Amino acid sequence: MDKIKLNLFDLKSKKDLLSVRKFFSKSILHWFNSDSSPNKKYFRKISCPLCGEKESNHAFNIENFSYHVCASCDSLYTNPHLKDGILESLYRDGTYQVYQNSLVKSGSKIRKGVLEKRKFNQISSLVNKKNPRILDVGCGRGTFLEICEKQNWISEGVETSGIVSNNKNIKIYNDDFNTMIFEKKFDVITFWGVLEHMFDPIFAIKKAKNLLNENGLISFEVPSSESFLGEYLKKYSFLPTRYIESARHNIFFSKKIINQISKKFNLEIKKIESNGLDIQTILLEEFDKKTTDKILNIQDILNDLLLGDHYRVFLKKK
Ligand SMILES: [Zn+2]
Repeated sequence: MDKIKLNLFDLKSKKDLLSVRKFFSKSILHWFNSDSSPNKKYFRKISCPLCGEKESNHAFNIENFSYHVCASCDSLYTNPHLKDGILESLYRDGTYQVYQNSLVKSGSKIRKGVLEKRKFNQISSLVNKKNPRILDVGCGRGTFLEICEKQNWISEGVETSGIVSNNKNIKIYNDDFNTMIFEKKFDVITFWGVLEHMFDPIFAIKKAKNLLNENGLISFEVPSSESFLGEYLKKYSFLPTRYIESARHNIFFSKKIINQISKKFNLEIKKIESNGLDIQTILLEEFDKKTTDKILNIQDILNDLLLGDHYRVFLKKK
């Protein structure tokens, strides 16, 4: 399926990116002591949240967060790590709504018309069933589900931040996926930019697998621990604007852990691709069209090399 060449500034303006980062930095200030060290009330030391390995190597710092590469599975995670429930409180107290309003709404036309549509096409090419039942975990206001619903998919979502859908054909549970009890099974379960915010993403994948029908599909998009952006951060310190996410992106997945997940849960990897806005995130400058096109071409090649800042993964129940 054709990739989309995406201009970061069509999706999010530089002004919005900078102001949201500032807002987030302020919102999470109380997590740190006056000397900028992580407050023990909010943080604790952990082993790798994806494979359990204790050993890790320091990779880089973003603001006051310290990122480490797991010595066993190559994933990247913050250590000390936010305690369970802390990030969720940020979603509940309205902070996340500000993010939604400033950054998600502004690019919603591109999201809905182009990005979400491509996701749907990718999934439907792997699902061989009429009117499949889909659950989108962390569905936001249900933009992706609206596309599914239009194609007569039975569409349901889970969202913790209190956002509701305007579409009466889409059922959104304002709840926590990991603690919910489901009485039915699904043909597709998706996690778009969700697992990296969870305290225990492996549990969520395990739960999703158990909720799948025969030949069911799990798709997720997660930050990559092997991106060009990550390599840049390891070598040259800078504050990436899109890492407002420094508070929220606590876990970055490696190819190795994706393979391990596939083996552990007996899920076949149908496809892995990488999508990114690495170069534009680093440069954070708007250029003339000719230069922008060249930057997007280089990004396109980085994505082909699986070096974009996100992995998109499609796993099928065997
Ligand atoms: Zn690990």
